[in-house]
Amino acid sequence: MNNDFDIVSLYILQLASSGISHIEKEIQKLKEDEELRLREDEMKEAQEKLDLLSEKLHEFDKERKKFDDELVLKTDKIKKNEKRLSSGTITNTKEIISLQEEIVSIKKFNDSIENKVLELLIKIDDLNEELKAEKEKKDKITAHVDNLKNEIDKKIDRLQIVLKKYLNRKEEILKTIPDDYMSKINELVQKKGGIAVGVFKDRMCLACNMEISTGESSKMENANEVFKCPNCRRMLIKYRDKIEDVKKEFLDINS
Ligand SMILES: [Zn+2]
Repeated sequence: MNNDFDIVSLYILQLASSGISHIEKEIQKLKEDEELRLREDEMKEAQEKLDLLSEKLHEFDKERKKFDDELVLKTDKIKKNEKRLSSGTITNTKEIISLQEEIVSIKKFNDSIENKVLELLIKIDDLNEELKAEKEKKDKITAHVDNLKNEIDKKIDRLQIVLKKYLNRKEEILKTIPDDYMSKINELVQKKGGIAVGVFKDRMCLACNMEISTGESSKMENANEVFKCPNCRRMLIKYRDKIEDVKKEFLDINS
């Protein structure tokens, strides 16, 4: 492997890649927010209940209108009969009695209709109360959902900014890394849970947190060489002060 590039780039690439995958997971988690989903379900339920109540109210109104129309018709009929009776043109007693009986019967019928209308009006009042309460409930849930969405969007926006920064950094650093390193890195990323490059310090591999034997570490002195951890097989670079600066670059998500 050629070493005419700054091997710290490998570590920068690692932190950028880890950061990117971490942020992408966070964004996905926010998009699938459990609480938001629950509240959205509640909102849907509340809307369905509202629709059902509105439909019922509409039915009651229709029924009421039907009764009202019927009352108008029947009242007309009474008026007609009364007019005929008072006109003096009917002399047949049987016919007079029949008309009078019909009036009584219609009035009785109208009374029953009026009672039904009254019952219906009470039901409509109750339904309107229920509708009002349900609407308030739904408005409350909707406001909560809007707030949650807002909060989540803000968090996602913030993460997107960091993500973009890391993606740019990764793209930039990739240009400096030779291809032969990249194929090895990609292989390790697949095998080692996304972590291909680590740092060793004081005979410790900071990727797997295992101690490296004195014998092995004595062969790992050259700061410009990329080594392999005898334990986790990841690429290792020797610790140096610059590592701290690199870490600082990717603090956004680790803080
Ligand atoms: Zn290791």
